Amino acid sequence: MANIQLKDVRKSFGAVNVIKGVDLEIRSGEFMVFVGPSGCGKSTLLRLVAGLEDITSGELLFDGEVVNGLTPSKRGIAMVFQSYALYPHMTVYDNMAFGLTLEKGSKQQIRERVTKAADLLQIGQYLDRLPKQLSGGQRQRVAIGRAIVRDPKVFLFDEPLSNLDAALRVATRIEIAKLHEDMNNVTMIYVTHDQVEAMTLADRICVLRDGVIEQVGTPMELYETPDSLFVAGFIGSPK
Ligand code: ADP
Ligand code: MG
Repeated sequence: MANIQLKDVRKSFGAVNVIKGVDLEIRSGEFMVFVGPSGCGKSTLLRLVAGLEDITSGELLFDGEVVNGLTPSKRGIAMVFQSYALYPHMTVYDNMAFGLTLEKGSKQQIRERVTKAADLLQIGQYLDRLPKQLSGGQRQRVAIGRAIVRDPKVFLFDEPLSNLDAALRVATRIEIAKLHEDMNNVTMIYVTHDQVEAMTLADRICVLRDGVIEQVGTPMELYETPDSLFVAGFIGSPK
């Protein structure tokens, strides 16, 4: 678990300002969801938290320590993307164990961690298969499993369900919620443009618009007291 603070975080690519001063505190163990229209900067903000991009100015703190410039692994971050980039020539087991073999740890310890994560995600019976022998939903679980085995403090998801069909989206969404409980409430930040996902998963929702925060609150607060028509439109209540 980690508490994450963003202080006047800004990011530009060349002359283009994409993140324009974000102040936000994400509590340890919280499930925070970023929503907003395409192009508003959700993925960029997530990549800044991850350390996959450097912030242009401002401060980013994990548990009170400045992490600007630290790599994702030094930050204790694991990230699951929309397109699950599994290694096609490796089995499910090897895909999940890969990150661990780069660290210290005995074969036995690695096997235990992979087996535990696979059981949690109900993919234990597929460990010997290759990714191409799995359905899209199963592949996405392997991608999540690969992140879990590293025992991250912070789990980041960028639209992890958008490539799945409707039924699988629901099933996987429920699993992600369960994962949050099972992992002793590891801090999660989850990007989506799907209102239902946001409303059902979030402890709090952060609505982004054109690189700034429009409103932050619990699903109920945003639903009942949206600050703007923009938020109301996103959360689905009339204002
Ligand atoms: P979202 O995830 O909300 O759809 P993004 O964070 O992907 O939005 O992108 C926000 C804006 O930043 C977009 O206008 C996009 O074109 C721009 N952008 C993102 N990454 C880069 C980059 N590496 N170089 C230049 N512009 C970028
Ligand atoms: Mg995006």
